[in-house]
Amino acid sequence: MVETILSQLDAAPDGLTLAELQIKLNAPRGRLDHALKLLSLESPAPLLKLDNRWKRTVAPLAPTFWERVERLTELRKREQTRMLEYLQARSCLMQFLARELDEHDAPPCGRCAVCRGEPLLAEQFPPALAERAAQFLQRTHHPIKPHKLWPKDAFSTYQFTGKISESLRAETGRVLAIWGDAGWGELVRAGKYSAAARFDDRLVVAVVEMIREWNPQPPPAWVTCVPSLNHTTLVAEFAERLANSLKLPFHSVLQKIQPTPPQKEMQNGFQ
Ligand SMILES: [Zn+2]
Repeated sequence: MVETILSQLDAAPDGLTLAELQIKLNAPRGRLDHALKLLSLESPAPLLKLDNRWKRTVAPLAPTFWERVERLTELRKREQTRMLEYLQARSCLMQFLARELDEHDAPPCGRCAVCRGEPLLAEQFPPALAERAAQFLQRTHHPIKPHKLWPKDAFSTYQFTGKISESLRAETGRVLAIWGDAGWGELVRAGKYSAAARFDDRLVVAVVEMIREWNPQPPPAWVTCVPSLNHTTLVAEFAERLANSLKLPFHSVLQKIQPTPPQKEMQNGFQ
């Protein structure tokens, strides 16, 4: 990321804003911001910030930067190893922590799981409770928060820049499942990767339930889907079954015109 940031800034004499860098780099905004700040703390700094724009200075990135990165990475790996050792420790856990903090003569605490010789929390649970937890998760619908700003440059052809006006803003949506979550995640995954490439009927029922509970106003009048070039029938077929269950028409109003990388690999708002 550091090398790409520097080469992108080399090619931009007027500098780039954080939003513009998100167009050039498929990286999470927070991590980009972090990398920029880290580089600006170098001495001499290879880049600097002027009025929201990051610009390259004449200073090259010192080789000591990479040495420091390596040293820090090593340190983090060592810490991670120690944490794994803590999980498997056969002696007092409090003593372990005290030793990590350079206190070497702490007595056994007598209260941790190792000292007591038994887990502090029950490891068994009644199946009925697990069933209720699963049902709770399946009924927990997540909001889709609408964007308040147009993505930088994405819609500028239509003069859509800056704030999205109230009249054009989407309302808060609902999502049934997040990839891999503990509610419906497993059933979604099974549908996507099954030989039949078909989502389970239980997911249709669950979406119908979700919409009934949500009760959006005005109520939906038709159903569509965002098509995929990789899975040509999976989503459309699900959306049609959903439309049938809701007794609404299904309209295929969107067409995908070029292949794009999977959404799950897109790491920032612009991408
Ligand atoms: Zn202990």
